[in-house]
Amino acid sequence: MLITTDGVVLKERAQGENDKFIDVLTGNMGIISICAKGARKLNSKNAGSTQLFSYSKLCFSQRSNRYYLNSSEIISSFFNISTDLESLALASYFSELLRYSVPSGAPAENVLKLFLNTMYFLDSGKRSRAFLKSLFEFRLLCEIGLMPGLIGCCECYEFRSNSMFFDILNGRLYCDHCFTGEVGFDTVRISDSELHVLRYIALTDFDKLFNFKTSEALEKSVGEVTEKYVLTHFDRNFNTLSYYKSLLT
Ligand SMILES: [Zn+2]
Repeated sequence: MLITTDGVVLKERAQGENDKFIDVLTGNMGIISICAKGARKLNSKNAGSTQLFSYSKLCFSQRSNRYYLNSSEIISSFFNISTDLESLALASYFSELLRYSVPSGAPAENVLKLFLNTMYFLDSGKRSRAFLKSLFEFRLLCEIGLMPGLIGCCECYEFRSNSMFFDILNGRLYCDHCFTGEVGFDTVRISDSELHVLRYIALTDFDKLFNFKTSEALEKSVGEVTEKYVLTHFDRNFNTLSYYKSLLT
């Protein structure tokens, strides 16, 4: 039986002399691993479409729980990302987050949509890397079921107060009257504008999601919160994130 689906290559692993396995994010099957025989030969018809970050239409068959690529057609290669070291490092971080958090076999339509949109803006350079990093980190966690309660204070439902406190670990907001904890790594004070950006990223429809503008300072402070949100909830570090950050210093 042949299966046809669109997907983005998140990782390539060499196999033997000419073959490779590719991990692909798809909308209907989550992340799947496909064996692409002969795809590492320069003249292979599947060479381009199975390259890292290629978005391709893939036609494959299933034999004893393995998928084997039959034919493929490239939809977009996101070429500019592969020629820019920082963009490539950031896309690799996104890929590691996806491979860590998206299961195989379950539909991931919204996650694929989020990733493709983010890659489009990273490739075109129409949004800054800092903006795209925060947006992808935070929205990804919301899409996989880790949306925090951002509507208001979790105790008195106050929508805004002079300053709010965000308990990152438990995903709760407190107003300054109700907050009794301490500010630390996973509990931060957030301003009205930071909260506004977080609400926007978490709750806006995809067709408007990338439309908002922020200042560089706001990008930076929101970025600190979204990164902490990822590291706290996944409870681990990501080598690709450390590498990306090493390029910025
Ligand atoms: Zn309150």
